[in-house]
Amino acid sequence: MDAMDVYESALGLIGGTPLVRLRTEGAATVYAKLEYLSIGGSAKDRIGLRMVEQAEKDGLLRPGGTVVEATSGNTGIGLALVAAEKGYRSLVVVTDRVSEEKVNTLRAFGAEVVVKPGGLPRQHPDHPMSFAARLADSTPGGWLANQYDNAANPEAHYLTTGPEIWRQTRGRVTHLVSCIGTGGTISGAGRYLKEVSDGGVQVIGADPASSVYGGGDGRPYFIEAAGHFLHPDTEQDVWPRSYHPDVVDRIVPVADRQALHTVRQLARDQGLLAGGSSGTALAAAHQVAAGAGADAVVVVILPDSGRQYLTKYFNDTWMLRLGFLDGDASGPRVADAA
Ligand code: PMP
Repeated sequence: MDAMDVYESALGLIGGTPLVRLRTEGAATVYAKLEYLSIGGSAKDRIGLRMVEQAEKDGLLRPGGTVVEATSGNTGIGLALVAAEKGYRSLVVVTDRVSEEKVNTLRAFGAEVVVKPGGLPRQHPDHPMSFAARLADSTPGGWLANQYDNAANPEAHYLTTGPEIWRQTRGRVTHLVSCIGTGGTISGAGRYLKEVSDGGVQVIGADPASSVYGGGDGRPYFIEAAGHFLHPDTEQDVWPRSYHPDVVDRIVPVADRQALHTVRQLARDQGLLAGGSSGTALAAAHQVAAGAGADAVVVVILPDSGRQYLTKYFNDTWMLRLGFLDGDASGPRVADAA
């Protein structure tokens, strides 16, 4: 993407996101990849486009068809904008834990949104993944994107995110830090960077502290879209096929509180308004950078914008209610200061 270029449609503005250097402690260079500058507002635009185009090629999605997906929001937004541009209908299943801003964005792109209760076990008929699968089956021309098991998900990052980072750092990148949700970003971009650097790039996963990717106990946490938690009734879980653990060198667990304070600070110190999982990734990147030398070039993926969470992570009342903030929720008032 080049801001001076002219595009045929919104789809040309997917991906192609810039790197910005962050001020951090220590000698290493840290760049943030601002995925929220993609046209739909997240890294998931890339997979929305790739999954739809692959399904068209495979004959699974035909004119007049319906795109169906269960999502924590961003994949739905990516799919809904691609569907809108290409003339498909979209049906998106979310849980009531997904932020209001994301649900409203989905509706703005014309998606029909079904909201289900959060925290249900995978085998429950109302779990978004089970519900979406039935919805796709019962809708004529319905196609389930299935980001967790769709090879086009990591592929999108192998073909775009990884090469962009390599080109933008002129091959100097030494560490990639990314959250793991479906695993698509880290698996695709990580695999590309390892191949092109002949194993010279270390790939580090950032994971909410209780998420099972990093060996946590699977208790629920509050960062949307990253990690994986287990319902108490679920004995075990399987890795999504979009996640390739062989690409990941290590996983840094980050507590919700630390992630949220890190991302709130980023907005105040550096003018970058990113989402909660960006805080998870950034806190891990700080740790990686602190242990690396002056030659290290750390690239951290910021998957989406803080604007999607103004009613949550950037809302002091919400933060206080959940025990993430100490003190008085009301904060200083203009009237008091006058
Ligand atoms: N953070 C946010 C905000 C996301 O939307 C996602 C994707 N669901 C992730 C992190 C994780 O990315 P991935 O699914 O590629 O592992």
